[in-house]
Amino acid sequence: MGKYSSKINKIRTFALSLIFIGFIVMYGGIYFRNSPLVMTIFMLIGLLFIIASTVVYFWIGMLSTKTIQVICPNCQKPTKMLGRVDMCMYCREPLTMDPNLEGKEFDESYNKRTKK
Ligand SMILES: [Zn+2]
Repeated sequence: MGKYSSKINKIRTFALSLIFIGFIVMYGGIYFRNSPLVMTIFMLIGLLFIIASTVVYFWIGMLSTKTIQVICPNCQKPTKMLGRVDMCMYCREPLTMDPNLEGKEFDESYNKRTKK
């Protein structure tokens, strides 16, 4: 099956890697402590990465409100899906909201939780 992951998990991994890059860049700035200007530039770039990751995390929060909780037909665990097609977080089972592609298991009854 390869290393497939649900969309939210991919974005979360991306946000996490941004934090790591940010800290590595800031840490790199310590080596230039004799040159305050270079160190400041490193700190600012590192800070930008961390700000970017915060934005991505905020975006995840926005996306999470749009996810729909479904029971995976394969492993029977509750998983969240984003958009019409996504994958189960646990078993990578492809899931779809399109009734033309799948049966009626994914109908309205599962959507109520996320509707406001
Ligand atoms: Zn599953």
